[in-house]
Amino acid sequence: MSKCRVEKCPRCGALNVIKWGRQCGHQRYKCKVCDNVYTYRRKDVSSANRFVWFEWWILRKQTIPQIAELSGHSERQLHRWFDEYLENYPTWHI
Ligand SMILES: [Zn+2]
Repeated sequence: MSKCRVEKCPRCGALNVIKWGRQCGHQRYKCKVCDNVYTYRRKDVSSANRFVWFEWWILRKQTIPQIAELSGHSERQLHRWFDEYLENYPTWHI
């Protein structure tokens, strides 16, 4: 418990994760943002994971400052991603 390594959700990149039991000797974590349960692995958040935040923005009506706080990404970064998604999904239905 002396380690102060910050765990990140591999799916959405949030820092808001809790310990969620063990599996085969590995510590498992649960993300409180997207409910993803995972075993810790050293891996970067892939670009696909950003889509979770886009959903928060569109479907859950969160503001970008709120998402920035939850995700740890800057508002500027989020704007850039969301603009990309809006451009790449011209047939998006809300
Ligand atoms: Zn997550």
